[in-house]
Amino acid sequence: VNRSSIRFRLTIWYSAVLLLGLVLFGIFLWFAMGRELFGEIDVALQGRVHGLEEYLRIEAGEHFPTLAEELHEFARSLPDYEMEVRNESGSVVFGTGDSQAVFSQLPHGRTEGDLKQSMEWRGAHYRILNRQVITDKGPYSISVAAQTDEVRGVLRRLGFLMLLGIPGVACLAAAGGYLLSRRALNPVRAMTDKARQIEVTNLSERLAAPKTGDEIQSLAETWNEMLARLETAVTKISQFTSDASHELRTPVAFIRTTAEVALRRSRSQTRYREALEQIEIESERMTGLLDHLLFLSRTESAPSLPLESLDVRTAVQDAFAEIEPLAASRRIGLELDPYQDPMPVIGNESALRRMLLAILDNAVKYSCVGGSVTVSVACADGHAHISIKDSGSGIPEQALPFIFDRFFRADPSRNRESGGYGLGLSIAQAIAHLHRGSIRAESAPDAGSVFHINLPLAVGNPP
Ligand code: ADP
Repeated sequence: VNRSSIRFRLTIWYSAVLLLGLVLFGIFLWFAMGRELFGEIDVALQGRVHGLEEYLRIEAGEHFPTLAEELHEFARSLPDYEMEVRNESGSVVFGTGDSQAVFSQLPHGRTEGDLKQSMEWRGAHYRILNRQVITDKGPYSISVAAQTDEVRGVLRRLGFLMLLGIPGVACLAAAGGYLLSRRALNPVRAMTDKARQIEVTNLSERLAAPKTGDEIQSLAETWNEMLARLETAVTKISQFTSDASHELRTPVAFIRTTAEVALRRSRSQTRYREALEQIEIESERMTGLLDHLLFLSRTESAPSLPLESLDVRTAVQDAFAEIEPLAASRRIGLELDPYQDPMPVIGNESALRRMLLAILDNAVKYSCVGGSVTVSVACADGHAHISIKDSGSGIPEQALPFIFDRFFRADPSRNRESGGYGLGLSIAQAIAHLHRGSIRAESAPDAGSVFHINLPLAVGNPP
């Protein structure tokens, strides 16, 4: 038996409580019963004393031999009682068999009223009622005694029964409870066994949740929800790892082939130079990709960007200025709608700039030469809204739900030459989420795309 198991402790506790309850009840019962039985004896004694008193009063006129006879007659009808009547001087007027000895211990010379007493004589127990009465013939002392051994025997047997019965009942209840709790806790054991078997490789398995509506069901369901979240996260991570390795394979293979080809035989300096330049360009792309990957994995696993209060307009203006040369080179008209009011948020300026740049970069990249990109900002409902609209090719409807996924490219063949890895938007979204904000895209084919960014405004203290 595992002493710290819930089952063991529950059994011990309720057995202890039950035992205590039964003992208290037993004690109460015993005393109540005793009171009741002794009370009955006292009532009977009172009746006998009253009877004797009546006799004394009525017969007081007669001379004593008659009275004594009458009293003997009365006593014979009540063989279980000892009775005695004494006169003023203390001498016995009338007494039953053992009365002298039984009543010898009573105090003499008392004034008036009733006296109740319990006493023992020759191993027998008596309850005594003594009353002083005054008749025309003078004062008398009347005593009646009843044996209490029968009542005492009943009480003793009751006590004995309870002494045996109470621990017996408690033991039975403990054993029954122990067996029952095994049934109740069976699902817990099953869950423990199942949970032990679940590893990263079989995260899709679930615990059996008994449909009982109790704590155990809710525990199992909570566990299963947690497993589902873990499964999603693990799937995402392994997908990410395999995508990342896949993406890195191409540039590494390219660098290797370029170097191998260049080294195969001796070449002119210009050829070597060309090869090295190609290697440099590819390495730069790789560095960029690695940088993205690192940023993503850091922000997702342990977001620890230093936050400060800043004005969203500044971040927008900075990103805008940074993208201008690219837009100019593609002859794309870039426009920033003016906005006067401050837009305070708590955030990380360089991360926000990175987010805006990713979207602006796309807007410029996917716009045809001579197109236009418009950025506008506004505040509403406690949020800063930034929208970036382009006149580009638009995003196909079936691709729209996936553009924020890592490594997703709506048109991979086209994007390779423009240098995208499909990470820009997922990074932008990760940054928006870090700021408790969101990004949403709208697009119609050939009508361009609009990206809406929402960031909660800092309340209270504008920067
Ligand atoms: P990439 O580095 O390929 O641009 P992103 O994550 O930034 O990766 O974007 C994912 C995909 O979404 C892009 O490959 C592109 O197909 C689509 N996309 C994003 N922005 C736009 C846009 N402004 N116009 C058209 N397509 C876009």
